[in-house]
Amino acid sequence: MREHLTFYIDGSWVEPTVASTLDVENPATEQTVGRISIGSSADVDKAVRAARQAFEGWSRTSREERLEVLQRIAAEYQKRMGDLAAAITQEMGAPASLAQRAQAPVGLGHLMTAIQVLKAFAFEEERGPTRIVKEPIGVCGLITPWNWPMNQIVCKVAPALATGCTMVLKPSEVAPFSAQIFAEIMDAAAVPKGVFNMIQGDGPGVGAAIASHPDIDMVSFTGSTRAGIEVARAAAATVKRVAQELGGKSPNIVLDDDAFAKGVSRGVASVMNNSGQSCNAPTRMLVPHARMEEAIAVAKEAASQITVGDPAGNFHMGPVVNRMQYEKIQGLIEAGIKEGATLVTGGPGRPEGIEKGYFVQPTVFADVRPEMTIAREEIFGPVLSIMGYRDLEEAIRVGNATEYGLSAYVQAADVDEARKVASRLRAGQVSINGVGGDLTAPFGGYKRSGNGREWGDYGFHEFLEVKAILGYAAPPPPQVAA
Ligand code: NAD
Repeated sequence: MREHLTFYIDGSWVEPTVASTLDVENPATEQTVGRISIGSSADVDKAVRAARQAFEGWSRTSREERLEVLQRIAAEYQKRMGDLAAAITQEMGAPASLAQRAQAPVGLGHLMTAIQVLKAFAFEEERGPTRIVKEPIGVCGLITPWNWPMNQIVCKVAPALATGCTMVLKPSEVAPFSAQIFAEIMDAAAVPKGVFNMIQGDGPGVGAAIASHPDIDMVSFTGSTRAGIEVARAAAATVKRVAQELGGKSPNIVLDDDAFAKGVSRGVASVMNNSGQSCNAPTRMLVPHARMEEAIAVAKEAASQITVGDPAGNFHMGPVVNRMQYEKIQGLIEAGIKEGATLVTGGPGRPEGIEKGYFVQPTVFADVRPEMTIAREEIFGPVLSIMGYRDLEEAIRVGNATEYGLSAYVQAADVDEARKVASRLRAGQVSINGVGGDLTAPFGGYKRSGNGREWGDYGFHEFLEVKAILGYAAPPPPQVAA
């Protein structure tokens, strides 16, 4: 049993103001594996006071001082990589291989990226007599989800630190173990006290208190569109900047050429990764009507290769995160069948031979029409919808016909053609032929997938204010005619 009953405030482990705890369940076994304290607005007040006090000093540190701190964090992070991966597997069910290969290391990736960007970042700019300076925005509230916990925490914390901000982090109450280890890493790295603070808790208690807090200058939120709207609403009264990374329903357009089969099977594997629990999962695959049968055969074969089982074992897919998600996904699979989509593989219920845990079958639907529920709603589970298109115009129109705009994908042998399609997709990130993982490329959404961009140098701008100082340099003396 893991017990994390204190919060990290002002460089110390602090008891909650009001005692209240939450059990944490392992989604593979449905057993309680730990307990955390759940914070309140009084705890947020304490953490914000510490962050405000620390801001005075931290915001004036030099680039070199901040680089040193980031390097110490990266070194400590490396030491705890195995612990982080194990915690992620236990709290949200990612298979050990995925946790070790991607879920834990991606946090280190964001730290290294922040170090690289900070070394060269232009905080000042001259435009004649005017000087433009970029200054840390202040105390930041960081609210994160459970699906890629270290990705989302570190892609906020690292640029916030690098730009000279101080912060209060509220990780997901569903994935609190890895966050606890991250706070221990910050402590071991001797991050100056008050610069980084963490309070465990839920959305209505801690998240809402952060969003509405009068002394927090900006909120960076990643999670559902529903909660993102609530955060923006709560932040409006104090005119906070709100960065939002929200949901997705990303199209994956497979072109009618020689790379078709490869594109389809790559799309299937990509949707099932992390049990379908990625905001940028390519959940709507668009294939030419004439090749629907071929797509079905390839997708069926690709899905049959995906093994499901104990995340501690050697399987491609673990469970989904909790009972609520399991039931929501089951309901959406039922809706797909009821509304007349063709069930290619998978379907309702657990995979054969598994009796316990929130395991879902890798499920593929074909002949999905745009008006069906499974084509419109974010499922956040291992469910792919294959839809037909007559021509590329229709593929692009259907691909863009969603309230979301986080990511989009194109599969093609003809890269020129893929580029043309990519230029017309309304999404913050378009991947051609499965290329991914560039942590320096901006990440974020069009439309209801969010506001702002994270990662790399674009991620820095989220945490900076811009000041123009006019008359900074003396104007040149008037020219006297000879
Ligand atoms: P969620 O919205 O339920 O929770 C996210 C975080 O917000 C949690 O820390 C939660 O406690 C907090 N929260 C909930 N209600 C709140 C409120 N009213 N005020 C303040 N905070 C509140 O989302 P989730 O289930 O943890 O994550 C899944 C969702 O996140 C999916 O919709 C997914 O697409 C999205 N997501 C988006 C990205 C992205 O970068 N765009 C990345 C990962 C996940």
